[in-house]
Amino acid sequence: MNSYSSSSKERLKECHRDLQLIFSTVLQSWDHTILTGHRDREEQNKKFVSGLSQIQWPNSKHNSLPSIAVDVSPYPIPKNWGAGNRDEYEKFRYFAFYVLGVADILLQLGHIDHALRWGGDWNMNLDVSDQTFNDLVHFELTEEQ
Ligand SMILES: [Zn+2]
Repeated sequence: MNSYSSSSKERLKECHRDLQLIFSTVLQSWDHTILTGHRDREEQNKKFVSGLSQIQWPNSKHNSLPSIAVDVSPYPIPKNWGAGNRDEYEKFRYFAFYVLGVADILLQLGHIDHALRWGGDWNMNLDVSDQTFNDLVHFELTEEQ
């Protein structure tokens, strides 16, 4: 039985209840770690300055409270994926496809109110080859139902 570390638990608690339900459901079959829930002004601007985020405070979906975005990695966290390790890189995608499937079912069953968008397919056209900016750990709620 998978369970969250106390820091993952704290970070998920800062997120919208739909995100809490999606990831606590996913946790039952796939272990993962919550990297970021809410991001405050200082953290957001640090990310922007370092180029890790293209968005300034308060416009990131991580900046609201509860947060409507969450960054999640499968656990153990893939290693050296930035150094061209394709197998490790693909672990993020495989995990994300599973998360999107769980979210879609929860939406269809009426357990959550918002569809989920993933940073590996921003326009949600099911094509991962037309991306200009990949954020494979990023999931956010959309207005669409
Ligand atoms: Zn994010």
